[in-house]
Amino acid sequence: MKTKKQARQAKGSATLVAQKSEEAMIAGILEGSPDGIGVAVIRLDCGCRKMAAVDKNGDPASKVIIYRDQAESICDQCKADNGAFVRVKEEFIHWVEPAPEEATRQMIMAKVLGTRPTH
Ligand SMILES: [Zn+2]
Repeated sequence: MKTKKQARQAKGSATLVAQKSEEAMIAGILEGSPDGIGVAVIRLDCGCRKMAAVDKNGDPASKVIIYRDQAESICDQCKADNGAFVRVKEEFIHWVEPAPEEATRQMIMAKVLGTRPTH
């Protein structure tokens, strides 16, 4: 019997982290969402961002916010389709430290971001 190796932390797809400009938005959203334990960050192919705080049950803890970096308003396409799912380029959850345990994160991610295949 072979020695069982410690299960390696599955990296999955490249870990996405918030960019500087996103961090400011995330901080603002969390400030207004005392129940939020994380913020779902959705990057759309047009460059706009969709964000919403989630609580420990994976339920929305804030309104969904769409914004565009360094722009007065979101783009025309987002105005038309409200940031449709088909145009999602990247999505992840920015967790408030300390982040919940792995199982909770998985549960919330599945609930918030869906379980549809990413590739
Ligand atoms: Zn847009």
